[in-house]
Amino acid sequence: MIFDCITIFPKILDSYHNESILARAKSLGLIDIRFHTPREFATDAHQSIDDRPYGGGAGMVMMFDPIAQSIQNVQQPNSKTVILAANGKQFTQQMAQEWSQLDQLILVCGRYEGIDARVEEIVDEVVSIGPYVLTGGELPAMVVAEAVARNIPGVLGKEASLVEESHTDAGYLEYPQYTRPEVVTWQGKDYQVPEVLLSGNHAEIEKWRAEQSGQ
Ligand code: SAM
Repeated sequence: MIFDCITIFPKILDSYHNESILARAKSLGLIDIRFHTPREFATDAHQSIDDRPYGGGAGMVMMFDPIAQSIQNVQQPNSKTVILAANGKQFTQQMAQEWSQLDQLILVCGRYEGIDARVEEIVDEVVSIGPYVLTGGELPAMVVAEAVARNIPGVLGKEASLVEESHTDAGYLEYPQYTRPEVVTWQGKDYQVPEVLLSGNHAEIEKWRAEQSGQ
């Protein structure tokens, strides 16, 4: 699967996607993450991609043409194009699962006051990663790319890692996890692993985990 990010800062995420799971998935040929700048399609000497908002107001707005042409330039079959926007639809694990079936996800990153709203009419989705405002769409794009990539077979070392993860089913939150030692001491206080997890009684452990997950 190919992730094509359209951004005016094509290097801003370099270290992130070149480490850990995304780097491994790329080296295995399971995914590719590419960056494209809309400045390539700017028409003036300054390579402008933004202009003042109609109706007045603070800040600048990213122009339709450079973004639309960037999308058209990379678009392939079995693809979805998504704008990252603070006022978009909440991105969910269910979308991450569904979108992992695609061959291409185009992620359009806004800056300034956002993107000319007419771009929304030529894309498939406008999504937000949460009810807060960030400076640009690059971090949200990487959040979406990683959440989607985790659902592609082979991307995670152990497929089992996807089973029983939070949000896999609507409302499901994973139970608490512990590792050795059985007791940790911090600032004079002992913190124990729940007895049931040390019991070896798998039926009881399953019951405890289900309770902890609110099931
Ligand atoms: N004026 C916009 C508003 O009030 O909704 C905020 C623009 S924000 C400063 C610039 C860019 O950051 C947006 O175009 C979007 O791409 C990205 N962004 C900020 N917060 C986001 C969020 N919660 N989810 C997805 N993208 C976000």
